[in-house]
Amino acid sequence: MTAPFSPTLPTGRLLIDGALVEPLGTVAPFDAIDPANGRVIMQVPTCDIADVDRAVGAAHRCFESAAWQSMRPLDRGRLLERLALLVERERDDLAALESLDSGKLLTVTQAIDLQFTIDGLRYFAGWASKIAGETVTHSPLVEEAALYRAFTQRRPVGVVAGITPWNFPLGQAIQKIAPAIAFGCTVVLKPSEETSLTAMRLGELILEAGFPAGAVNIVTGTGAAVGVPLVAHPLVRKIAFTGSNATGQAILTQAARTMKRVTLELGGKSPTIVLADADLDRAIPGAAAAIFANSGQICTAGSRLLVEAPVHDAVIDGVCRIARDLRLGSPFSAETQMGPLISARQRDRVAALVEAGLAEGAHPLEGAAIPSGPGWFYRPTVLAGVEAGMSVMREEIFGPVVCAVKITDRADIVRIANDTPYGLAASVWTQDIDTAHLLAERIDAGTVWINTHNVLDLAMPFGGSKLSGVGREFGSEALQAFTEPRAVCLRLDRARAGF
Ligand code: NAD
Repeated sequence: MTAPFSPTLPTGRLLIDGALVEPLGTVAPFDAIDPANGRVIMQVPTCDIADVDRAVGAAHRCFESAAWQSMRPLDRGRLLERLALLVERERDDLAALESLDSGKLLTVTQAIDLQFTIDGLRYFAGWASKIAGETVTHSPLVEEAALYRAFTQRRPVGVVAGITPWNFPLGQAIQKIAPAIAFGCTVVLKPSEETSLTAMRLGELILEAGFPAGAVNIVTGTGAAVGVPLVAHPLVRKIAFTGSNATGQAILTQAARTMKRVTLELGGKSPTIVLADADLDRAIPGAAAAIFANSGQICTAGSRLLVEAPVHDAVIDGVCRIARDLRLGSPFSAETQMGPLISARQRDRVAALVEAGLAEGAHPLEGAAIPSGPGWFYRPTVLAGVEAGMSVMREEIFGPVVCAVKITDRADIVRIANDTPYGLAASVWTQDIDTAHLLAERIDAGTVWINTHNVLDLAMPFGGSKLSGVGREFGSEALQAFTEPRAVCLRLDRARAGF
């Protein structure tokens, strides 16, 4: 089914130094593909090292300029507010473009992605005027303490490289751009080559909003052609990355050479834990949504379903029923409940991981199949008979595949939940307040939800422990991530003052 909407496509140019420009490089552009049917939407420029250098140079010039350094924080906030208004004006069009390019349901991009984008701009606009250091009680080693004053300032890190994945394109772009600008940095954004279109449209709106030239630059292309030189560039002072573990580890290694600041938001293998006393009317659809929303392409997806024995069969049967009934199809159809995966490559990767799990002894209760027809779809899948050491239990699949585990002894829950190289998120489903808190506190994860899952809040720090990343974005933690502290100490002169 073709899209009933014909969203405005981006001009296909890059935002560099306050202008929409063609790439300098001669590398052929690449196709933006509609994952629901495999059709080409348009061509996207492939930048190379020369474009990266141009974009970083512009961001650096802007950052160093007197105009940027002396801009009132409230006015930096106003830039973000103006952009929020423009995104709001284009809301339906941008939601349709996001659905076309990513395969996400239109209902989801309208209600979630665009709302998050607009909220994110407004949330960080407010932060621009609330950057504060602290006064420090100083204890000088040899002199009278009363002569000393000490305080800290938070100063922007400098040029930020924002590198984003394909599962939440516009929201991720804002997650990097908005705090960077709010805290006084400038930024070069590289969206995923799988989903560059809304970021390019955002670039056009940034121009319309009147951002100073170079404050935000947007370059498109692959990780190898654009991401690698961006990470290596000596004028980039911080990398704000969201994506896979392999890329995150490569970035961390490379960043060490120039001591760049990094925040890495990486993968997960998050447990959904359903206890015997859970309200199953909420827990069953909650557990299903935790893994099948966005076709499982959510870093916090509840991909391990741990259920206490007394309710195990009821919960797994309920999740299987939902999986069986989910209608796959065009993201633009009101009937559709699950869209495609982002690419043939990702669909084949999911299928291969499931096959590996089956070969290791898991068995499918539901799904485990590629449906016929066009597009990169995969049936929602529930696997049973899984063991802790199996690849399906350890690797992030990033698709609609959940591993069901029966918990026969409550004493094992914490160990099993934490038996993963990741530590991004978890959810606990129970009606008992003591169990909820005491269990949640023992889960080694950046976010723990109670009786809900996949709920993000810009005021809450977001990130993970273990292989799930380094640092946090959102909330007051973003201030730490995008600024450096400067300690200032001054000595007063009693004789000069005369008292
Ligand atoms: P990816 O790592 O392949 O790509 C992410 C981005 O990095 C893309 O823009 C890509 O072009 C770029 N890139 C690739 N190699 C690079 C390199 N060597 N240097 C610099 N940049 C490079 O990830 P993906 O497949 O696009 O996204 C899926 C992954 O992202 C999953 O693992 C998922 O869990 C993770 N993710 C995490 C979060 C989170 O907040 N924790 C959110 C969304 C997605």
